[in-house]
Amino acid sequence: MIVTQDLCKIFRTEEIETSALNNVNIHIKKGEFVAIMGPSGCGKSTLLNIIGLLDNPSNGNYIFNEINVSEKSEKQRTKFRKGNIGFIFQSFNLIDELTVFENVELPLVYMGLPASQRKAKVKETLERMNIAHRAKHYPQQLSGGQQQRVAIARAVVTEPKLILADEPTGNLDSRNGSEVMELLKELNQAGTTVIMVTHSVRDAEYADRVIHLFDGQIVSENLKDRESIQKAVESLS
Ligand code: ADP
Ligand code: MG
Repeated sequence: MIVTQDLCKIFRTEEIETSALNNVNIHIKKGEFVAIMGPSGCGKSTLLNIIGLLDNPSNGNYIFNEINVSEKSEKQRTKFRKGNIGFIFQSFNLIDELTVFENVELPLVYMGLPASQRKAKVKETLERMNIAHRAKHYPQQLSGGQQQRVAIARAVVTEPKLILADEPTGNLDSRNGSEVMELLKELNQAGTTVIMVTHSVRDAEYADRVIHLFDGQIVSENLKDRESIQKAVESLS
């Protein structure tokens, strides 16, 4: 489903050049749940943003469902992103001025879905995320765990094939974190491919495998059990 070929990313400012990704080759199958781990600054978010078509590689190819998306125009890439990919961030990124319902409805508005269909879809998704009772509240009126559940509802309301999560439990206590991980696992078991960046070995255990990055390069990509994940994290952090 997702293939990168010699993916490179260099950030250039006036004085400095940072090589964030260096010849990254990954292969992720449809329906997989993959965790990306590695020390701060090793390129995890950069990789996720490129996979999510929020950023462009400096070099290399990115192939999604056999389409070489690196060759597409910006407009096509945006359309492709909105139709296929849902994002979840550490900081929830909800819009404060909109209610829970309106936040989750927004992607459907962008898709041009008529209001009647939107209402039903939002209601169903909020119920699935166990947050329907808060539909009329604003994000600041919710706990962190509840906000993240709203953010997940917003990410999945369009039924994306791929969910990208950047440290989704980073701002949550362990109970809320586990709840969020259970939801991601459920979505994955229902067929959605999930790629998640995390610092937490416990979260990584929900994944089918762990890709370990260091200094913009993959150092291992088949970590599966707690012990080997822990060892890899300790050896390079
Ligand atoms: P991680 O998510 O693993 O902590 P990032 O992918 O955010 O790491 O960053 C990788 C490297 O790229 C870091 O050295 C970071 O400072 C640099 N970087 C990330 N984004 C930018 C940017 N927009 N401009 C310049 N440098 C950046
Ligand atoms: Mg990051």
